[in-house]
Amino acid sequence: MYKSLLLSLTLSASILSAQSPAQTKLSVNWAELSAGEFRDGIARAQGTCLLPFGIMEKHGPHLPLGNDLLNVRYSAINAAQQEYAIVFPEYYFGQIAEAKHEPGTVAYSRGLQLQVLQETTDEMARNGCKKIIIVNGHGGNNSLLPFFAQTQLDMPHDYVVYVLGIARSGPGEPKHKSNPATDMHAGESETSMSMIARPDLVHLDRATQESGADQARLKLPDGLYTGIWWYARFPNHYAGEGAVASRELGEFEARTWINGVVQSIRAVKADQESLRLQNEFYERGKRPLETPR
Ligand SMILES: [Zn+2]
Repeated sequence: MYKSLLLSLTLSASILSAQSPAQTKLSVNWAELSAGEFRDGIARAQGTCLLPFGIMEKHGPHLPLGNDLLNVRYSAINAAQQEYAIVFPEYYFGQIAEAKHEPGTVAYSRGLQLQVLQETTDEMARNGCKKIIIVNGHGGNNSLLPFFAQTQLDMPHDYVVYVLGIARSGPGEPKHKSNPATDMHAGESETSMSMIARPDLVHLDRATQESGADQARLKLPDGLYTGIWWYARFPNHYAGEGAVASRELGEFEARTWINGVVQSIRAVKADQESLRLQNEFYERGKRPLETPR
């Protein structure tokens, strides 16, 4: 029963594709589209594009340097295939100063991070991406990206930047084997996700070669922040226990993340207010004394 249903679905899909190849065969990947296909893609995406944002940094002793980039692209591409959007090429020019002591880290300067990101979204918008969702895949960008979005108000733009944080957990999640409070980097959760996106690059047998324990070397009151906090707690650039990762947890997290991106693409396509309000705001910003009381 299931097989024959699947067969008839496959048949109707192939009939559909014969009728309208542009609707079914358009890649979501910017780099794979021809110029003509790109024009069709922008129309099909209703100007909605994804910028999956990774990083190049150590991920414990057992995961690849490009882990965040690989995982975020896996989620973004799968989501865009469910709800069409164009996915920008590999992007990893983010905030990672705290891992400069580890091999393979690529840490661009603060000014360049913001400049490359601004010119990237400007170029995306010039090509028709009037709604850009930055899909974050790296915790070290958690301050950078909202700051970038906030500062889009400093001068007029004809496009909207949205930021989607990392959201892999949710209700119904399989029980974790390690402490969720310190499962922060290359630990159970992230390693499980990597086992789905790129199982060939996960070396679980190496996960205990270094400690991912919190070394708690700095005692400061809650709410008092300093940049060295991360190194003080996790000098191996490893936080958690990668060795207890599982495909079961990874499947849940990958599904949750992909669903979150799909929901965001749909919400952004439906959003007619943000750009209208931005334009109203930019106009009022030119003459603040005339802003109605
Ligand atoms: Zn990571």
